Amino acid sequence: MRLETAAVHFGYVTEPTTKAVAVPIYQTVAYEFDNAKHGADLFNLDAEGNIYNRMMNPTNAVLERRVAALEGGCGALAVGSGAAAITYAILCIARAGHRIVSVPTLYGATYSLFAHVFRNLGIEVDFASSDRAEAIAECITADTQAVYCESIGNPAGNIVDLEALADVAHFNGIPLIVDNTVATPALLRPIEHGADVVVHSLTKYLGGHGAAMGGLIVDSGRFPWERHADRYPMLTRPEPSFHDTVYTETFGPRAYVERCRTVMLRNTGATLAPHNAFLILQGVETLPLRMERHCANAQAVVRFLQHHPRVAWVNYAGCPGSPWFALANRYLRGKAGALLTFGVKGGYAAGERFYDSLRLVKRLVNIGDTKTLACHPASTTHRNLTDADRSRAGVSPEMLRLCVGIEHIDDIVADLDQALAASEPDMTRRYHELEAAGT
Ligand code: PLP
Repeated sequence: MRLETAAVHFGYVTEPTTKAVAVPIYQTVAYEFDNAKHGADLFNLDAEGNIYNRMMNPTNAVLERRVAALEGGCGALAVGSGAAAITYAILCIARAGHRIVSVPTLYGATYSLFAHVFRNLGIEVDFASSDRAEAIAECITADTQAVYCESIGNPAGNIVDLEALADVAHFNGIPLIVDNTVATPALLRPIEHGADVVVHSLTKYLGGHGAAMGGLIVDSGRFPWERHADRYPMLTRPEPSFHDTVYTETFGPRAYVERCRTVMLRNTGATLAPHNAFLILQGVETLPLRMERHCANAQAVVRFLQHHPRVAWVNYAGCPGSPWFALANRYLRGKAGALLTFGVKGGYAAGERFYDSLRLVKRLVNIGDTKTLACHPASTTHRNLTDADRSRAGVSPEMLRLCVGIEHIDDIVADLDQALAASEPDMTRRYHELEAAGT
């Protein structure tokens, strides 16, 4: 199936009892065993089937199969949020004493998770000085378990050279984990460029309507865990928390994602509600269509901002002047997503006036909604970072982030235009008004 077809059909065949065409919501906590032996066989992994909703649900399973297909992976695990997906993706292969190497350009809560929460668990995250492969290579040690990046950084909008990062990771015998939330598989499929694991916040473009939270881990099935058995004993030796299962023997290429399910999700329980899985599936069906419109609108907004006298600078990888323009062409065929940042002339105060004057565009911390969204990262998502870390994450004090929605472009531009006019200091605005009136 092509991507557009898989987004609508993959992973669900009409349910035989009711013939329901829409994916049914299996709103249940448990699944009945035929008898004691059936229950024991399910727990022993000798029989396939559902056990308990914390670990598996048929609605969630359709979502898992569908997004795995869109990303070109061999399996997936859906969980309750993007943050949970990132946490499980790392904790599945890293223990106290281990290290992770990450690019510095990360979503704020991912940065906090890495810099503070994991550190308290004994896992150190080394932030490279930039997103470049040489900077990543310098940080890798014998204890490093994975390299982590966002394919398009939020909010920096940088495009990571995935193939270069995958080469560095694989040269050192470790996997590359990529957060593909901002790009989505409609624009970029990291596994095709060497990524071993892809994580998503389904809350964003995949769900697409700002109505349901979810997260997902996709396993490429390609990382040779057995070749690096001493580094990854959690996948290659008996697992005491799950019947001494040796994941690489029992699950083959799906070893990693099935350990995420049966050890991480089963024991810590960030389960995705099946109703949310259903809502997110509705979004996935129109993902390729929506991303076309999101990108076209973002390009038009960038053109408008670039020529506006009140705008100091615009950052969007789809612009020829951007340092990431070549990478955007190579990895995204010029469609650089719908997230952009800019600064209003007059710095922080003018930016605040612009922000407060928005009428159609929503002031909030979210991305990937049908609606156009605006955020001030320094005072919200990246508030927790030191000035130096914020600057390395690509966040300046006056920076505004726009996530361009799918409304009519004229209405988006009209709202930005009136808010930019309102961003002028009162005296300057009055002067321009009088000048325009010919007084
Ligand atoms: N990854 C990225 C790039 C994000 O922007 C976000 C949230 O904004 C997350 C992960 C976390 O996702 P969630 O809010 O679903 O936990």
